[in-house]
Amino acid sequence: MHVRDHDHSYDTIVIGGRVAGSTAAAILGEHGQRVLLVERVRFPRPTISTHFFRGEGLVAVLDRLQVLDEVLALGPPPLRREWSFGFGGPGPDEGPPQGPGDAGFSLSVRRSPLDDLLLRRAARTPGVDLAQPAAVVRLLWEDGRVVGARLRDGDGERDVQSRVVVGADGRHSLVAREVAPAVEHEVEALRTLYYRYVSGWRGPAGEPPDAAEFALNGDEIAYVFPSEAGVACIGVSAPSSDFAAFRAAPDAELDRRVRAHPGLADRWIAARPVGRPAGGPPEPSWVRAPAGPGWALVGDAAVHQDPWTGAGMDTAGRHAVIAAEAIACPSWRRPSQSRMASRMASITSTVSGPSVHSATRPTCRRRSSSVVAGSSQCRHEISVICPSWAIVIAKLPRWSTRPGPPALR
Ligand SMILES: Cc1cc2nc3c(=O)[nH]c(=O)nc-3n(C[C@H](O)[C@H](O)[C@H](O)COP(=O)(O)OP(=O)(O)OC[C@H]3O[C@@H](n4cnc5c(N)ncnc54)[C@H](O)[C@@H]3O)c2cc1C
Repeated sequence: MHVRDHDHSYDTIVIGGRVAGSTAAAILGEHGQRVLLVERVRFPRPTISTHFFRGEGLVAVLDRLQVLDEVLALGPPPLRREWSFGFGGPGPDEGPPQGPGDAGFSLSVRRSPLDDLLLRRAARTPGVDLAQPAAVVRLLWEDGRVVGARLRDGDGERDVQSRVVVGADGRHSLVAREVAPAVEHEVEALRTLYYRYVSGWRGPAGEPPDAAEFALNGDEIAYVFPSEAGVACIGVSAPSSDFAAFRAAPDAELDRRVRAHPGLADRWIAARPVGRPAGGPPEPSWVRAPAGPGWALVGDAAVHQDPWTGAGMDTAGRHAVIAAEAIACPSWRRPSQSRMASRMASITSTVSGPSVHSATRPTCRRRSSSVVAGSSQCRHEISVICPSWAIVIAKLPRWSTRPGPPALR
């Protein structure tokens, strides 16, 4: 732990050192702030998460942090296209990458090397001190305002003062528990997601993998994210009622389900499993007020998106940049906090959805269609907007019948 020994006071304490926390700390340091970044565990350390992210999202943030080349040097293939199966036709249907941004590609990089690289980037920023492994055990308060945090490490406990405390401490955030932010929207736990790595994955025509893949089968969606180190991450998101089966026999359940996706089955059987499957229970999604007196929340601590959206890392990175730039402003008070909240809201995508049918394609790029008595049924989506964040919380399906041939894409 490298906390300054005698001067326990910082402009900002950032709690949590993965995507949201390391990004925020690096940007705050760049703005000349004295920052203490606190991370409970030693890196490199995996965390339960697949890791697909988009050009306009975390790829752009990595570029902003000037580490995109370092990340690409780890060897993830730039994913410049996508294959889909079962979205109105058997597939494979080729499409452009989602949210390509300036880079024009998505990426998939395992969390252990990615988070470690981000943390090292933050720690080498002038003004940023790193406390790791060290845990924040509680916040310090004065007159209803957060004024610092109590840290625990191998040497015991100490209080550290700061102007602002940023909770980048994930979906079980201690900071959120203590500051009790207004919950602007909450969606019950709806889905579970399990995944595993394989080597030897090939594209649909036997080519080296260069595309993310999405396969729909009933209310289940399978993903393929070709990643660095020669592995592909294969995941399945299913309704929460399927969690017990996954938990009881993750290997067998994942195998059975991926084999049931006609577009993936042969290639799944030909690939070699690497390591054990991982996954998580269904968790609720939420949108919380992201700032208050002396505190801010970023990443999952503020907005938790169901993993099937594959958007949590994009949101965490982009929100962290916005929050850090707002906090670095000397006038970081209520009006700028609201501006920060609405800037965050403007780039937040779907938080959760009742079924994959209704929300996997938020722009309705591929509509679910079928011919009924010479007309087509098209699934429309109704966006539920959260008032103060003005963000899309869920895309609810609504069926309508209209004349003409079915629209497959
Ligand atoms: C199964 C699954 C699949 C997913 N797949 C994708 C995907 O493909 N694409 C995508 O974009 N997102 C995905 N996500 C979501 C993504 O993992 C999260 O949105 C992202 O990790 C949020 O980053 P974060 O930095 O906010 O929090 P986290 O990654 O949770 O990091 C929080 C950090 O805070 C530290 N911490 C916590 N408490 C303390 C404390 N008291 N003191 C000090 N440190 C503390 C923790 O040790 C941890 O390192 C998935 C999630 C799951 C569960």
